[in-house]
Amino acid sequence: MTALLLDGRVLAKELKAQISQQAAEFKARTGYVPQLVVVQVAGNAASDWYVRSIRRSCEGVGFGFALHLLPETCDQTTLEAAIQQASNDPSIHGIIIQMPLPSQLSADGAVAALNPQKDVDGLHPTNAGRLAQGLPALVPNTPAGGMALLDRYQISLAGKHAVVVGRSNVVGKPLAQLLLARHATLTICHSRTANLAEVIGQGDIVAAAVGKAGLVTGAMLKPGAVVLDFGINEVAEGQVVGDVDWESASKVASAITPVPGGTGPVTNMMLLQNTLQAAQWLAEQA
Ligand code: NDP
Repeated sequence: MTALLLDGRVLAKELKAQISQQAAEFKARTGYVPQLVVVQVAGNAASDWYVRSIRRSCEGVGFGFALHLLPETCDQTTLEAAIQQASNDPSIHGIIIQMPLPSQLSADGAVAALNPQKDVDGLHPTNAGRLAQGLPALVPNTPAGGMALLDRYQISLAGKHAVVVGRSNVVGKPLAQLLLARHATLTICHSRTANLAEVIGQGDIVAAAVGKAGLVTGAMLKPGAVVLDFGINEVAEGQVVGDVDWESASKVASAITPVPGGTGPVTNMMLLQNTLQAAQWLAEQA
């Protein structure tokens, strides 16, 4: 079997055009330009790279972007004050707290300081709870991007057995909620799961969000399974692979996301979509 490529670059391009148009319409209707702020604590090179990519994404669709950069030695009170200031500023619609934070800072405390209506990463417990209850919510970008890919390629979910490997608050758990909301039957696996290969073999849809190169192999998959690979693993200088062994899995799956070029490119587009959504909700309340 040759698997259908679930191409994140193609979808990201389509979404970019769609979001640009919606942002222009929103501006014409309300006078607002969606505005995103990143609160970053200095000292992490990977974060610097990611923040630049967010800036480019915002500029690409006509959103405003601002960076609130705090010193590496910043304390919890200063961090939370910066988040609260952005939360209370009516000209700001979306806030990202750039992770990871240095060890002296609490991520939970920082997230709690966010206005949930501006939490465009979908990390606040209010948004996680609303997602779990099927209420309108700002959903974490990476799993939302995975769902957008499944929809783009018209992969049906109702009644399918979805196996999600990984249970983080950023990817695995919200993905499980999203699949459940679409009537998939769900299994969530993690580091203590017994007989992982056997469980993965039951999946019509298998999603891997672990951070271990090649953890899921073709031999584990049910023939014809649809595979979403969220893993980002740098195995050599400049060489990134997913959690799924592409060589073997792409011969067994009916559809699969590549790494790079699968779930990754869609993630930033989901961030933009959340920012526009937040701006729309906030404008309705103004
Ligand atoms: P975390 O480290 O927070 O979570 C990893 C999960 O994998 C945990 O639930 C852990 O289980 C589980 N796990 C670890 N080892 C195994 C194993 N041997 N078998 C089964 N499960 C295991 O990672 P994230 O969710 O933040 O990220 C996962 C991957 O996705 C990473 O590679 C990350 O780089 C990537 N990522 C990709 C994004 C994108 O845009 N595509 C964005 C965000 C992340 P336990 O809970 O028991 O510890």
